[in-house]
Amino acid sequence: MGTRCLHRENMRPEIHYVANADAGAIAVTSSTTHGSNGVFGPGNPFYTPSSLPFQAPPFDRIQDSDYQPAIEAGMAQQLAEIHAIADSPAGFENTLVALEKSGRLLDRVMSVFDAVTSANTNPDLQRVQQIEAPKLAAHHDAIFLDGRLFQRVEEIYKQRDSLELDAESLRLVEFYHREFVHAGANLSDADKTELKRINEELSTLQNDFRTRLLAATQEAAFATTDKDKLAGLSEAQLAAAAEAARLRKQAGWVLTLQNTTQQPYLADLHDRATRQAVFENSWNRTERGGPHDTREIVLRLAQLRIQKANLLGCQTFAAWKLEDQMAKTPEAAKHFLDDLVLPATANAAREAEDIRQLMNAQDEVQPWDWAYYAKLVRKAKFDFDDAEVKPYFEINNVLQNGVFYAANLLFGLTFQERQDIPVYQPEVRVFEVIDADGKSLALFYCDYFKRDNKNGGAWMTNLVGQSRLLGTLPVICNVGNSPKPAAGQPALISFTDVTTMFHEFGHALHGLFADCAYPSLSGTAVARDFVEFPSQFYEHWATYPAVFENYAKHYETGAPMPAELAAKLSRSKTFNQGYALTEVLAAAELDMQWHTQSAGVQIESPDAFEKEALQRTRLSISYVPPRYRSSYFAHIFTGGYAAGYYAYLWAEMLDQDGYQWFLDNGGLTRANGDRLRHMVLSRGNTEDPAGMYRAWLGRETSITPMLKERGLVGKE
Ligand SMILES: [Zn+2]
Repeated sequence: MGTRCLHRENMRPEIHYVANADAGAIAVTSSTTHGSNGVFGPGNPFYTPSSLPFQAPPFDRIQDSDYQPAIEAGMAQQLAEIHAIADSPAGFENTLVALEKSGRLLDRVMSVFDAVTSANTNPDLQRVQQIEAPKLAAHHDAIFLDGRLFQRVEEIYKQRDSLELDAESLRLVEFYHREFVHAGANLSDADKTELKRINEELSTLQNDFRTRLLAATQEAAFATTDKDKLAGLSEAQLAAAAEAARLRKQAGWVLTLQNTTQQPYLADLHDRATRQAVFENSWNRTERGGPHDTREIVLRLAQLRIQKANLLGCQTFAAWKLEDQMAKTPEAAKHFLDDLVLPATANAAREAEDIRQLMNAQDEVQPWDWAYYAKLVRKAKFDFDDAEVKPYFEINNVLQNGVFYAANLLFGLTFQERQDIPVYQPEVRVFEVIDADGKSLALFYCDYFKRDNKNGGAWMTNLVGQSRLLGTLPVICNVGNSPKPAAGQPALISFTDVTTMFHEFGHALHGLFADCAYPSLSGTAVARDFVEFPSQFYEHWATYPAVFENYAKHYETGAPMPAELAAKLSRSKTFNQGYALTEVLAAAELDMQWHTQSAGVQIESPDAFEKEALQRTRLSISYVPPRYRSSYFAHIFTGGYAAGYYAYLWAEMLDQDGYQWFLDNGGLTRANGDRLRHMVLSRGNTEDPAGMYRAWLGRETSITPMLKERGLVGKE
């Protein structure tokens, strides 16, 4: 049951819908289901499991009009299955295994629908999302708030020790019991009704937030017909900006925005007024009044989440959300964050001092100055410039000879491109993943270029999840937002984008190594503050000498990156870490502040709340705005990472310590890779993550490697 999307943070140097009754659809009979508008039948490509290799989605046959009828039919089908389970006597097979097998149609369509609406959406799909989001929330509640079903789950839970279950099955019993309780299965009928109402409204609002943000971000792009304003941009950047304007049928140049507060172009633009305009477009994108303003949604979401937590017996939303996380309580997460604030901000203040030295004496350091002058500081201190290294990072080369190469050295994987597997967009590529023993393991899709119809950021998603019970192998997709070069030009990417590719592939490995019986426990279906461990861990291989030397080669000459330049890149890693950590901490503390509010607190405006929250957490620093302003903080207001943004930093402690383990044990070797695969990456949520991690590490976790890497304690 269920799919998920994992987003990357670059924290280190980081309808009115009319269904077309399609020609193949067969007239509705009593055994098929009416969609709200469409017809669902064997002509629908989701009707049966895909006959393509790995049950890959048949994108060549899927029309936008196919989703809604399949989603509606999928919910109806699963509800019928659920009712049958609730009518049957309780038993591990009867109840829990049956639950795991239920909802196949819904899972098939939602995996694809989620992927496509995130990476390649359009107004028709957005309308389906708007209509279906609250229905899907209600569907989830119809399962997890079903009293008879919960009785059966509870009966099994109570007898669990006498059922002679294997470890993974026992974990499944505990998992379901916790999920039901967490969702509110213990509530009175009146409270359940109230909870359902809240969940539906939450889901509608989260969906609205996403839609508004996408439109707002497109609209807030910086457009100009005056080339002088763009002085400082490279020929390639100008060509990409001209192409972006052409795609929008505009004259001149368009600088599109990424999802974060800071924008990459700010490092290069000489004209301070242009920088300020780009920054303000970014900062104010969702606060300009009109249809794309999200502030009302933010307030309502915050309020509803408090109500939900209270109904579920918790004082705050964060307390409810963290019950099943590694950190366990908001206090533990906050304590972890608080300890990082002083060292991070002290570092940022030192960096600001360096920047001030280069600016006009009468000017204050402003957020739109930071990246520009930081680049000059880096040039002066480290003699390093991003533009110098980009020719060594051609995207296909980074993929094949970096990302895939590391997976070959660590795990023996090889990759064969499959031109015969259909894709949702021509830019998407598909690879078959071959295991060390020659067996076919999975399919891996990648979609790395920025498009206006794609959400910002980078993520991994399952198109098909692995399960031995269901007989499915993984089909995994990585999505990014690297600038697309002008036609005929090579895609030379920044080192940050290189690291992002490694990061998302770390999530992909967690998915494609999954070797679990039950779909609910498989792959990346783990605690939010653990799931970033494999991904952030994999980032380390981007700079590991044996890997780096293999991919960092000049796109024209094939010459390896000169040792001196590579050394500069490596040395400059701790550069700007004060800023980078402070902006992430500000976002993480903001998230915690929003979600540790109790009932009765009146929040009048998101801006005033944000200001006070940053002051309270000692993160109100004029030149380091939070990485996301509340009004465009999609991680926390579209769902997934609410009260969970701290997870990126929490997992950093795990990934740095884990990398240290590798270094202490011979570095990048097959033996070390296989050990990580067997003890962690293949196991999904079949064990408690803290125990699993400790067993792999062989000792208690230490934060020291993280602090050293961040330059927050001296390296000896
Ligand atoms: Zn991630």
